[in-house]
Amino acid sequence: MVVDFHVHPFRDAAHCLNFYPERQDFSNPRRELEEAGIGCICGSVLQWEKPQSFSDLQALNREALALREILGDFYTPGFHIHPAYPRESCEEVEFMRSRGVTLMGELVPYLHGWGDFDKGNLCEILEAARGMVCSYHTPWDFDMDGILSAFPHITFVAAHPGDRDRVEEHIALMKKHENLYLDLSGTGLFRLGLLKHLVTQVGAERILFGTDYPICNPRMYVQAVYGEDISDSDREKIFSENTIRILGK
Ligand SMILES: [Zn+2]
Repeated sequence: MVVDFHVHPFRDAAHCLNFYPERQDFSNPRRELEEAGIGCICGSVLQWEKPQSFSDLQALNREALALREILGDFYTPGFHIHPAYPRESCEEVEFMRSRGVTLMGELVPYLHGWGDFDKGNLCEILEAARGMVCSYHTPWDFDMDGILSAFPHITFVAAHPGDRDRVEEHIALMKKHENLYLDLSGTGLFRLGLLKHLVTQVGAERILFGTDYPICNPRMYVQAVYGEDISDSDREKIFSENTIRILGK
């Protein structure tokens, strides 16, 4: 089975992040993923329009819960928080926990106007999110080294390997922090040898399959993992076992 750790599911145009306007069929949010061989997905609902308040972010989180109703076990929702709203965010953490949701993110500061945010507030929210998994967009311009040390009981998953230099930055941070994983979505996987390099440097246990659908073509990512020179057991870990393990499913 293939589990896609990094999807932004949608059922209408407002929440569809695809770059090109020809995509108009919202009748079956699973079809394209299943056709690519993906058996279940995880991730937050996003929209390109910038949120103006915490309730705009909350609306995305409620849409994620609504999509779970429709998609059932196929979809593990992720939710948003915002360091400018620490009290509301901590309440949201508890609300989502009460709904059985333990995945925070993908957090996307550039899209949600975090700006020069209060780090103390973020730490307060992460304190409330102990035991959860936190998926975050990279490049991430903040002190992740300090955050990773301060919250060993949160499993962090960096999104997007990026290109050559950034890949080495991910590897250096992962070697230093056992609670850091990397998902393969977005930029990077089209470079032949990237995945073997990651497996050699940090081990297959720390790498999660992800696509960033509907921005990226899921079939391309699935095939890229099959096409890489790694063992079948490492492929299994990357495709599904690691995500199932860290989300405790
Ligand atoms: Zn991202």
